This record gives sequence, structure tokens and C-alpha cells, in this order.
Amino acid sequence: MNFIWQMTSLLTANLVRTRGPTSGDSVYLTFDDGPDPAQTDRLLALLARHNAKASFFLIGERAEASPDLVVRILAGGHAVGNHSMTHQPMRQIGTRAQLQQIDQADAVLQRIDGNRWHAFRPPNGRVTWVVLLSTLWRRRPLVLWSIDSMDYKLDHQAVVGRLRAMPPKDGDIILFHDDGECALLALEVLLPEWERAGMRFPPLECAG
Ligand SMILES: [Zn+2]
Repeated sequence: MNFIWQMTSLLTANLVRTRGPTSGDSVYLTFDDGPDPAQTDRLLALLARHNAKASFFLIGERAEASPDLVVRILAGGHAVGNHSMTHQPMRQIGTRAQLQQIDQADAVLQRIDGNRWHAFRPPNGRVTWVVLLSTLWRRRPLVLWSIDSMDYKLDHQAVVGRLRAMPPKDGDIILFHDDGECALLALEVLLPEWERAGMRFPPLECAG
């Protein structure tokens, strides 16, 4: 039993990621809940101005409605991951529905980028046993974060203050959202500061 637990911990540590690869100065920007016809292009323009790459965890039905936005995200050199088909909280639906949420979003993304699998980030970051076991079984990374910007709750000035108080370090994954302008306004202030501090912004490995 102890051996099985150790093996599970080892596999889980490898597949459940709250931090990205370290290189001395790598910080990983991640954006959930897009693509958004009113926001995503503005965010892509800001990232391009700073040569920053990000990872977008997309909602399947929103990607299906705006495939051109997904194409532009990929063309910008960013990574695309799976954030479920309709963003239903996994704890409120059955086993079969949870698996369908993952598979349907993967199918939508595959039709756009040709990749068979995408890293999964569950809605609200709530991991269930079904999500954990299915990602382990399929050897698909489950990507969470080490820093929550709280852009879904705070205004952009408060987000700036919060992230200045806990500046990201090498390997940190920061959670932002792409369905409102809070992250965009905060990053207009923070990205130049972080650049001056020597940080780089690579994409995570999210698909294959
Ligand atoms: Zn979300």
C-alpha cells in the first residue's frame, strides 16, 4: 500500500503542475476563460509589444464560437490548453459528465490546432478524483498555478498592488483571466516593470 501511495505521489507530482520549468528568470503568464471577442485581441497586442508569450486555458464552447481568435493566439506563439467545454464546476456534475467536459473541449481544440491532447486546468482550479485519475491515466498534465492574481475579484489597481507585494520568481505560474479587462490593465503597468527586473515570459508546454 505504501509503495502504491509513493508511486501515485510521484506520478501526481510530475503531472499536477503548480510551477513551470525554471531557467533563472522564467515567469509563466496564464489566462483562463477565453477566448473573448472583446478582450483577446487587445491582450495579444499587449503581449506582442513586450515579446511575452502566455498560455491560454480556453473554454471549449467559446473556442468553437471564435476559432479565428484561437488561430491568432497560436500565431502569436502562445500555448493553448483545455479549460473544459462549458466551465461547469466539476464537483457539481457526475463522472461521465466530467470526462465529457474534458473530451469535448479537447476535440474542439484539436480541430483548430491539430494536437491530440491539451493540458487541463479545471474550472475554478477544483480538482476532483475523476479529473485527477483521468489525467494520470492519459498522462495529460494538470496545470494549476503558484500565484493567483485575483483579477476575478479585485480591480486592476489592487491586482497591481497585490503582485508588486509578491513579485513573481523563476518558475511561477500566474493565474489571470481573459474574459474582462482587469488583467490587461494590470499587465500594462506590470509587464514593463517585470521586464526591467529581467523576467522572461515563455509559454508552458500545453499540447502535443
Ligand atoms: Zn475559469
